[in-house]
Amino acid sequence: MTEYAANIEIENLPWLLPVWQKLVDRIRQNRLPHALMLKGVSGLGKRLLADQLAARMLCMQNETYACGSCKSCQLVAAGSHSDLLVCAPEDESKVIKVDQVRLLNDFVSQSPHVSAVKVVILDPASALNQNAANALLKNLEEPSGRVIYIILDHLAGNVLPTIRSRCQVVDIRPPSETDLVDWINQHLPTSHDSPITEDTIADVMQLASGAPLALKQLMAEEAHLKQRELITSLGGVLKNKVTPVDAAKVWLTIPMMKLIAWQIAWLDNIIRYQLTKDRSMLKPASAVDMFKYLADSIPCDHLFELRQLILDAQMGLNSNLNESLLVEDLLIKWKALMGFRQKKSAS
Ligand SMILES: [Zn+2]
Repeated sequence: MTEYAANIEIENLPWLLPVWQKLVDRIRQNRLPHALMLKGVSGLGKRLLADQLAARMLCMQNETYACGSCKSCQLVAAGSHSDLLVCAPEDESKVIKVDQVRLLNDFVSQSPHVSAVKVVILDPASALNQNAANALLKNLEEPSGRVIYIILDHLAGNVLPTIRSRCQVVDIRPPSETDLVDWINQHLPTSHDSPITEDTIADVMQLASGAPLALKQLMAEEAHLKQRELITSLGGVLKNKVTPVDAAKVWLTIPMMKLIAWQIAWLDNIIRYQLTKDRSMLKPASAVDMFKYLADSIPCDHLFELRQLILDAQMGLNSNLNESLLVEDLLIKWKALMGFRQKKSAS
């Protein structure tokens, strides 16, 4: 039997194995719901899980993984299985269009050609706008028994409750911190010959929401160094030593989505420290002094206000705004925090 490379991939992601085993047991017992929603932050391998699950459902053998050698598995590997449909935003678009859902509806209205069932992977649910969701709902409400939907929710946008309520939700959770550190050191690109320290991992862990594949990507991009650079330029702005225009040039070296997410993560740390005085919240290491200073001197409501302004900027990202203006504006808002300083309490 040919070895199915994808099996190895799932086995390399140990936090997915308990979920995988549960779902395979249900496939074997014929107890799989007609719609599964795999829910969890980005970077946990949910799409890989969905792809593997689809292959396993379509496979003609009854093994733990898709066998890799039957006719169905060969068609899946070639990307030409007529009973498998992947519905995801096309090209640069961020939304699943209603026309794509109409094609999906045509697909599910026909009987399976090769396998016993048809499988639809929808990635992600938040990309469905109201019209597309409405077009999908009828089929989700009246399952045919021969169609299984695997719908992904990366927690990065709103999923319409009407969609969620028709799915069985499967929570995919990140591994423990210790398991994550072990895993990341085993799976880092070969250019990293010395083990990555826990401190470095702690610096970027939050940026990845603890998701191993996202963390691996950040480590490969040396995001911890990039983050340090951004923090340094922010510190310069707050101290009036660097202009927002110059700092924006540094900030714009990373993608906007990431830039927004990182700022939210920083502000969350500042706010958590302010509320709890738990020093472990002061992350990343390069920002400890700055974040402590802000937490000790800026009233909470102004921190929340800035957080909201950053989230508002995120909402505006799709509307072709000039990115450098947007970033300069955000830096000016960070700088404005300094105007709200109050006398440090005696603590
Ligand atoms: Zn097979």
